[in-house]
Amino acid sequence: MLNNNVPSESFEQLRLVPSHVQQSKPAVSRDPQFSGWLPASNPMPTFWQTDLHPLQDHRSTEQLPEHVDFVIIGAGYAGVASAYHMIQDGSCKDLSILILEARGVCSGATGRNGGHLRPDLYGHIPTYIDRAGAEAGLEIAEFEIAHVHAIKKIVEKEGIDCDFTLTRTIDTWCNEDSAKQAKQVYDQMVARNFKYMDDVIFYTGKVAEGISGVKGAKAAASYTAGTMWPYKFILALAEILLASGQVNLQTHTPATSISPDPNGGHIITTPRGTTHAKTVIHANNAYVSGLLPEYANNIIPCKGICCRIAVPEGQTAPLLNNSYINRTADGTLSYLIGRTDGSIIVGGASSLFKPHKPQWYNNVDDSILIDAAKDYYTNYMQETYHGWQDSGAKVDSIWAGVMGYSYDSNPHIGTIPGREDQFILAGFNGHGMPVIWLAAKELASMAVHGKEFESTALPRLFKTTQVRIDRAKNGREEDGDIIGTGGFSATKQ
Ligand SMILES: Cc1cc2nc3c(=O)[nH]c(=O)nc-3n(C[C@H](O)[C@H](O)[C@H](O)COP(=O)(O)OP(=O)(O)OC[C@H]3O[C@@H](n4cnc5c(N)ncnc54)[C@H](O)[C@@H]3O)c2cc1C
Repeated sequence: MLNNNVPSESFEQLRLVPSHVQQSKPAVSRDPQFSGWLPASNPMPTFWQTDLHPLQDHRSTEQLPEHVDFVIIGAGYAGVASAYHMIQDGSCKDLSILILEARGVCSGATGRNGGHLRPDLYGHIPTYIDRAGAEAGLEIAEFEIAHVHAIKKIVEKEGIDCDFTLTRTIDTWCNEDSAKQAKQVYDQMVARNFKYMDDVIFYTGKVAEGISGVKGAKAAASYTAGTMWPYKFILALAEILLASGQVNLQTHTPATSISPDPNGGHIITTPRGTTHAKTVIHANNAYVSGLLPEYANNIIPCKGICCRIAVPEGQTAPLLNNSYINRTADGTLSYLIGRTDGSIIVGGASSLFKPHKPQWYNNVDDSILIDAAKDYYTNYMQETYHGWQDSGAKVDSIWAGVMGYSYDSNPHIGTIPGREDQFILAGFNGHGMPVIWLAAKELASMAVHGKEFESTALPRLFKTTQVRIDRAKNGREEDGDIIGTGGFSATKQ
């Protein structure tokens, strides 16, 4: 364990560079006495963080408080949303909350993502239905869909300026076979009479290209989704947290160990000293296994790439009124949102870097791009959309980010087996926007009121359990969802 009095400079010097990133900048490091990853010290700047918020590097007090009721680890979407829901709870007015953040507020995946608040009805719901039955799949679809309106409501209620839009998202398939398969999935979901399918419309043939504007689209599906500026959303929530007087925020203060206090509660160690808390909430997503080694094979840090594309100053970009998931003829997938200033945020391309495992898998280095995909978006708009050929659109900002991928594609939420008064809310698989807000609300009620997971609105497959932990711990990478076939033993009940 670290000496509690080690100043942060010495802490930096103590860090080591793991072998697979030694050729790149020495930005990623492990403390020799800390078994897991900590975030890299110099993440790439992103378009979203062009104007840093005054709370970005905030510390509420010079010293850490000696004791708090709750420590939340991580000031991304999951950590900040959990604290928000806790202070909204009328019965929590006397509770104190400390948020420890290794870097700046929202400097992790949330501040580096695609801004797409899109329930996923095609990618994974059919898989969950296969694995766990229709009801379990439906729970997830409805939970994700509920986020679109929940976020709209909170943005309106708190008057948050974060460019929120309610839109139609369009999925496109440019490969004939994939288009046929997608249509089959659509027909199967309609046949199940799931109510939410009333909002989905599917197009095939020439009309798919006409509806989507995507060159060569063989099929398209559209439904309701949202787009937003996540960094602004989270920082506005952080302002509300601090105004409550209940929350102490400490940035650039990583938690490096948690040990039980013989007198009750937990001692949380950081390079700036220790604090004591009754309850700990782990909301540090990709990095969660640093403090919880049992999650090492369950939640793996995996890199992604995202960029902003804009037309030259003084020109007007062709209107793109929807958000998108585009799949090229060779199966490369990109998520894309249009912004009101005419610029585009687009990312993905994981099929290009998937074969180059060290570039993205078990890798937390968001100080460098992913080599195999870094040039993919150079002419993306011209190549993909009708009407953009002469736009002059160019990538003007590109960055990498680190996500927490889980072995079975579901997040881990709830009481941590075998660890009293410790909770987890992590493993969002590049898909946290339509999951975290309401998950944090339910987690807050579990942590504050001792509510059982089963009495919350959380989908059953999100519960962190010993069975799930052991399945990944003892399972082979080749059988998991991240780089394998997903052939691990089914969860059907
Ligand atoms: C390139 C990219 C594009 C994406 N696009 C989308 C999208 O369009 N739509 C979508 O739904 N999802 C998207 N995602 C995924 C989404 O951003 C995440 O699911 C979500 O932001 C996770 O939020 P979080 O709070 O759990 O994690 P994070 O935002 O990563 O927050 C975790 C925080 O914990 C801190 N931390 C880590 N270790 C410690 C420690 N020991 N002590 C203290 N603090 C610590 C980190 O510094 C970080 O700030 C994307 C992700 C990336 C990287």
